[in-house]
Amino acid sequence: MTDLVNFREEVRNWLDQNCPPEMRKPITSDADVCWGGRKFVFQSTAQEQWLRNLSGKGWTAPTWPTAYGGGGLDRAQAKVLQEELQRINARLALYSFGISMIGPAILKYGSEELKRQHLPRIVRGEIRWAQGYSEPNAGSDLASLQASLVDHGSHYILNGSKIWTSYGDKGDWMFCLVRSDRDGPKHGGISLVLFDMTTPGVSTKVIRLISGKSPFAETFFDNVRVEKNQVVGELNGGWTVAKYLLTHEREMIGESGLGQSGTRPLSETALQAVGVEHGRLADPALRRDIARLEMDERALALSLERARDEARGGASLGASSAMFKYFGTELNKRRQELLMAVHGVNALDWSGPGSSDGALPKTWLRSRANSIEGGTSEIQLNIVAKHLLGLPG
Ligand SMILES: Cc1cc2nc3c(=O)[nH]c(=O)nc-3n(C[C@H](O)[C@H](O)[C@H](O)COP(=O)(O)OP(=O)(O)OC[C@H]3O[C@@H](n4cnc5c(N)ncnc54)[C@H](O)[C@@H]3O)c2cc1C
Repeated sequence: MTDLVNFREEVRNWLDQNCPPEMRKPITSDADVCWGGRKFVFQSTAQEQWLRNLSGKGWTAPTWPTAYGGGGLDRAQAKVLQEELQRINARLALYSFGISMIGPAILKYGSEELKRQHLPRIVRGEIRWAQGYSEPNAGSDLASLQASLVDHGSHYILNGSKIWTSYGDKGDWMFCLVRSDRDGPKHGGISLVLFDMTTPGVSTKVIRLISGKSPFAETFFDNVRVEKNQVVGELNGGWTVAKYLLTHEREMIGESGLGQSGTRPLSETALQAVGVEHGRLADPALRRDIARLEMDERALALSLERARDEARGGASLGASSAMFKYFGTELNKRRQELLMAVHGVNALDWSGPGSSDGALPKTWLRSRANSIEGGTSEIQLNIVAKHLLGLPG
């Protein structure tokens, strides 16, 4: 216990000196979000410094072993670090599919060579990862995927395509599910492979949305060389790795229910926008809905914490991640609806100063996709019914 008190003190002092004041302000636009990677352009020296400082301590991946660049913290210390970051409203230094998805999979299933090659670069935010799972005819039914990996002696050759690759045009490396055996059962012929997206034969085509944004791309593979040492886990054993990775993805998406780190709390925004009457938020219906949301947020936070404690020492949440993904994304959709209500007609302003360039309605629209990405709500409910509640299939 005393150790933790000392550790908290140490973290506080370190943050005092190493978290730039600009990084303690709410995120107001996409540009405030740091994804790292070769193509990323930092918005400010403070943003770059914050990533350097935090990753230098290994605290972008606090519980990963120090041998791979992580912080080497135990769960209790990682919780203290999280609390101290929240206390000063620190922005997340790095948004990373490397940290939330492929990193944990490499840690559990990857060879020593893969761990040493990829994990330290993930911690430092040097490489931006893209996820190549979905195909035009393999979304919810992911095991039907057809992108084909063929053995060419010294290396493999990959052909096929992926769709809905988030930020595929900005990715440096891809973790990709491929069919490596066409003869066996469909779940048994899948592998998870890694390759640099600058390899000849890889191309992307952005998918433009009605908002004008292009958050994802189609990705094409035309005789792409994949090195033999870049298979995560066993060849043809990729389904197990893919499912493990998905539990981490779903946990990460479920956390959206707690709100984005570094953003202003909804109740504070509401007080400012709607005003106060008799010491309370002026609109009683909004007051009730915000109170309910904040209670549900607290319940989600505590349940996540309990589940993580139960999962001891970095183990996966397993099927519970489906429950958290479902509840968290529904909660985030409610939060975004409420934010729109709080701002009234101003919320609909797509480009005016009051809405900071349409950030509000765009974030609201984006939240609708939360219950599709990483597996739809229907699929999560199926998993909860079957694996957590034990209902007949
Ligand atoms: C914002 C966003 C980002 C994404 N990023 C990525 C990415 O980076 N990489 C990647 O690989 N993929 C990504 N995806 C794709 C995502 O994983 C798929 O969209 C998702 O798995 C659903 O697949 P689908 O679109 O093919 O829909 P389908 O599987 O065709 O489903 C259509 C509808 O049928 C329902 N349905 C299907 N099967 C069942 C069933 N058994 N029981 C009940 N209902 C069912 C679904 O719930 C859904 O409502 C992203 C998607 C979005 C929206």
